[in-house]
Formats: sequence, structure tokens, C-alpha cells
Amino acid sequence: MSTTATEWSERYAGALMNTFGPPKLVLTRGEGAHVWDVDGREYVDLLGGIAVNALGHAHPRLVKAVADQLGTLGHISNFFASEPQIELAERLVTLLGVEGRVFFTNSGAEANEAAFKLTRRTGRTRIVAAAGSFHGRTMGALALTSKAAYREPFEPLPGDVVFVPYGDVAALEAAVDDTTAAVLVEPIQGEAGVVIPPTDYLPAAQRIAHDHGALLWLDEVQTGIGRTGAWFAHQHPDLVSDRVVPDIVTLAKGLAGGIPIGACIATGGSGKLFDPGNHGTTFGGNPVAAAAALAVLDTIRDEDLLGHVSAMGAKLAHALGLDPRVTEVREAGLLIGLDLAEPKSAEVVAAAQDAGFIVNAPTPERIRLAPPLVISESDVDAFINAWPAVLDSAGVTAPGGEGAR
Ligand SMILES: *Cc1c(COP(=O)(O)O)cnc(C)c1O
Repeated sequence: MSTTATEWSERYAGALMNTFGPPKLVLTRGEGAHVWDVDGREYVDLLGGIAVNALGHAHPRLVKAVADQLGTLGHISNFFASEPQIELAERLVTLLGVEGRVFFTNSGAEANEAAFKLTRRTGRTRIVAAAGSFHGRTMGALALTSKAAYREPFEPLPGDVVFVPYGDVAALEAAVDDTTAAVLVEPIQGEAGVVIPPTDYLPAAQRIAHDHGALLWLDEVQTGIGRTGAWFAHQHPDLVSDRVVPDIVTLAKGLAGGIPIGACIATGGSGKLFDPGNHGTTFGGNPVAAAAALAVLDTIRDEDLLGHVSAMGAKLAHALGLDPRVTEVREAGLLIGLDLAEPKSAEVVAAAQDAGFIVNAPTPERIRLAPPLVISESDVDAFINAWPAVLDSAGVTAPGGEGAR
């Protein structure tokens, strides 16, 4: 007899550190936007490994790129260079549309650590970051993350970081001065529940930073590489009112479609701030991860996924927001935040799972969707059709209503 889900969960609890709480499911395989658990139950995955599985699960082009590269040259250390690494760096810089240089890492936190160290090379130390920010869990990235519950157990953290209200230009004006090394913001705050700032925020942040000789650093770990319907959120004409040219962009999550990777890209002179010996990594820029990322970039381009992302995002946002128990919808392509009339997001996640859909609750009031960029319209329609019943099962009631819709 095969091991049951309960038995796997017990073994998980005995063998793994309890950092994530009990796993919601034990999954065995995936295909496209679908995953299956150990009991053979199928789910539509509207979380995509937290905005990671851009091409869904087991995409043939990604599988082939990884297998071919691993069968050719899998790892070499940074004493040596590989073709996929060089090509990927060039492609990322080309997509940014300005001159720049790349440092590869294995995760978002590490990309931000690299960027944090890079800002120190300006000779200044002060970072102005945003309330509600999330930049990762390593000590440096945590110092840049505002959430007290994440920070406090680990203080003291690297210092000279100040937080200002997100989306507030006047607050930035007041906080940034000639001692500021960098202004660090997410173009959209994903972990906060998909918080989208006013369209003039990033252009203003750039102006304010540059007026004081500070760098503009955008954390696009979650929003980058097609997630919002543009290659980078800061390039999306619906999200940003004027051209923004960040000095630093950090990437990770969706970049290699599920193979661990991160990138710190610095433009112009900032790309030359590190000298030999200033930073390093064993795995970063690994040929397999680079080949995976190239397959992701090629597939997004060849299958016009940016257009698909915009269309599917708009459809989901419109249809899910029709329910009166949703008080606000924030949509940037396939990064969608839904505010509930009651703080029952955990119940909604559980009810969705019972109905065969995987969604996420970044806060007690907010549901986040970040499905694979390749999600089909029929999967989108299936979730739209199931949504009212999911809210019913979760016991979410309409504002001012008696529980009836
Ligand atoms: C997820 C995330 C990170 C951290 O990435 P890890 O790969 O988990 O270290 C950093 N910044 C943003 C905006 C993120 O969404």
C-alpha cells in the first residue's frame, strides 16, 4: 500500500524544521497549470510556486533546456565562464533597454544582498525603503524588509535603513537626502497583497533619488519577467506614467521558471561599482539555471505570453471582482490581489483547495493569485465559475449583508 498524505505529513513534521507550518498538500507531479497530490487529486495551480512557475509545470522547452545543459556542462564555478551565463546576462540587459551589468545569484534574497553590498560601494550607507516591503529573509534582505514580526526575533540587523509609507511621494522627498545611498522599492508590493502605487510614484522616486545623488533600486523579484504583462513592471505603461531607468534591478522568482536563480542588474556606472573580490557565489550563474532562464525568455517571446498575461489577468480581475464579497481588486497582469469583505483569507484558501484550486493568502483580508503565465483560458474560466461557491464555503459575507448574496 502506498504512503498516505497523513503519513507523509507526519514524516515531514519529524524531518523538516518547522518554519512554514504544516504543508497544505504533498504534491507529486504537475503539468501546465495543474498539479496532483499523493492521493491523485488534481488542482488548478493559481499560485505557481509563488509567482515562480512562469511556464507552468513540466514545460517541454524548460525540461529540454535543463536536461540538455545538465548533460553537457552542469556546473563549473565562477573561476570559469559558460555560454548560457553570458548570453543570459546580455539578454537581461537588452530587455532593460540600457547599458548594464549582471551579478547572478540563486534566490531573491541573495540578489538583494548583492545589491545591498553594491550600494555600500557608493561610499554612503543609508537606504530608504518602504513600509510593507518584502525583500527576503537573509540578514541583509531582512534589514530591508519592514515587517516587525519577521525582523524583531533576529535583531540587531544591518543598520541605516529607514522605512517610509509606500506610494507616498512627499514621504520620499522628506526622507531622502545627500547621505542616502539608495531608494529601494518594489514596483508592486507582492507579499503585502499586491499593492500598486500611483503611476507617478516610480518616476518621482527616480527624480528624488537622483536629485540627491542616490541610486534607484527596484526589487522586481516578484514583478519581473512577464508577470505583469511587461518584461519588467517598471516598463508597463499602465503602471508607470513616465520612463524609469533604475540604477539597480533585482530579479529571481519567475526568471528560470522554477530552477533557482537570482540576478542583480546594475545600469550605467553602477554596474562597475564592484571590484574583483568584493562579492562572490559558488552556484550563482550556474549554466543549468542560465539555460533554464534562456528557455523561459525564449518561450515568453515566441508564444506572445505578455499579451496572454494581460488578457487573462484582466479577465480574472473583472470576473472575480463582480462578487460583492470582494471589496477591491488590484490587477497587474497575472499578479492579482483580492480584498475580502471579511478577514477570512485562510478559509478561502482552504475552500478553494477543497474545490480543486490553489490560491494564496498573504494577509488575513487578501487573496493573491500568481498563476503560471501559460495558464489556459479554460482554467481561468473554471476558477471564475467556482469563485462564488468558494466564498460561500469559506463563510465570507457581503458588506452590510445578512450572509446572503
Ligand atoms: C520572494 C521575494 C524576495 C525573496 O526571494 P527569495 O528567493 O525567497 O529569497 C525578495 N523580494 C521580493 C519582492 C519577493 O517577492
